[in-house]
Amino acid sequence: MRRYITFIQNNKTIILPFLYLSLLILGVFVFNLFVVDYIDGFKVYVNQKEIALVKDYEVIHSILASLEQEIESQHELDIVFDEYLLKYQKTESTLDNFTSLTSLEQSLKENVTYKCKCWSLVINGKEAVYLKEKDNVEKLIKDLRNYYLPVAGNNNEKISIKDVKILESFTIEPAHTYYPEILSEENAFTFLLEGTMEKVTYRVKSGDNLYSIARDFRLDPNTLEEANPNIDPRRIQVGDEINISMAKPLLNVEISYQHVYEEIIPAPIIVKRDNTMLRTQTVVEEPGESGNKRVFAEIVLNNGFIKTREVSMEEILKTPKLRILKQGTQRTPDDILVSSTFLPPGIGIITSRYGVRRWNKIHTGIDVAVGTGTNVHAYRAGTIKFAGWNPWGYGNLVIIDHGNGIETYYAHNSVIKVEVGDSVTKGQTIALSGNTGISTGPHVHFEVRVNGQHINPLPFLRGQ
Ligand SMILES: [Zn+2]
Repeated sequence: MRRYITFIQNNKTIILPFLYLSLLILGVFVFNLFVVDYIDGFKVYVNQKEIALVKDYEVIHSILASLEQEIESQHELDIVFDEYLLKYQKTESTLDNFTSLTSLEQSLKENVTYKCKCWSLVINGKEAVYLKEKDNVEKLIKDLRNYYLPVAGNNNEKISIKDVKILESFTIEPAHTYYPEILSEENAFTFLLEGTMEKVTYRVKSGDNLYSIARDFRLDPNTLEEANPNIDPRRIQVGDEINISMAKPLLNVEISYQHVYEEIIPAPIIVKRDNTMLRTQTVVEEPGESGNKRVFAEIVLNNGFIKTREVSMEEILKTPKLRILKQGTQRTPDDILVSSTFLPPGIGIITSRYGVRRWNKIHTGIDVAVGTGTNVHAYRAGTIKFAGWNPWGYGNLVIIDHGNGIETYYAHNSVIKVEVGDSVTKGQTIALSGNTGISTGPHVHFEVRVNGQHINPLPFLRGQ
């Protein structure tokens, strides 16, 4: 070593430049080995997800251009990529880390989202429905205006449309949206009609049944039944609440029109009382004849439902002729029997006797025809055993326990005036008659049971 140092010292002027040159060559070699293989590039992000590493992002734009063509020919629509979701970040990396062209194409296809150019029906400033073409949206509006137009049912009817109005403000505008949101004309029309489902509570009125309600609301009776599992369609009552799910259209169409139609005028009836005949007898003295008239009605429809209806004029085409009936006034034995016991005198007529076969069932009592709201009296003193709704056809029912195993039933009432456990006296008003349950008209069904077995009530009434 000492010899070597000596050598350097002795030959300084020759060796030093040589040494510097060697170091420089070595430095360049090392630099190449560790640094030069890193090249500039860009990380590509779609929707904040890194999908590729590229040298030059121009290549992405050319891939997107061909992808755009491919999608456009597939949908037959112009599209726009959601380019704001595409981001680049400058970076450097070695050559083998860069994404190949094939996998770059593949991952763009999988990750890039796009919107289609289309047309929108804008309702109250909000894009509501998207269709491909402007024509499609225009046709949608035209179809909607025609959808609720009333049509004449026969030759004697005439409908003159005065105005068809869409109540909401709307415009047709160019728009962009994702492909699945662009509806066919058919689906767009259904969507417009159904809009959102709205829940409505309907209170049952006199004369309603589940089928008439379904018809009025343009619903399938089964749908209505399903929506009201707690309601038995055979026993709906005035005042019951029924849940109705109704479509609330996105656009409301109001149609004003004049409806001219012919209507029958029923023959007016005159009843002459005749004391030579029984109360149960009626004789037609003059048959009479119905007339008819032409009615002019001004109607406003809202989505097909009548909003207002006014008759502006009536023209008599044929005057009706009077119908004259002769009605007996003499009481029948049964009539007197009933009226003298639990009904005020002169009201009741037995319309159905005990033991007759009706609706495939033996009639378990007697029916006394009376107007709704007539006082129903306790046949004799007793204790109220039942007062309320009976689901098997009796409707609003009162049962009185008279002791000794004797019970009386008073059915189809409109109003019940007593409560279970009440003591009642003979002749006390226990209910108001009606037409509830299985009943074809206002009447009192009176039934007597002895030890639970129904028997003919007439002998009991006679016994009073
Ligand atoms: Zn009956």
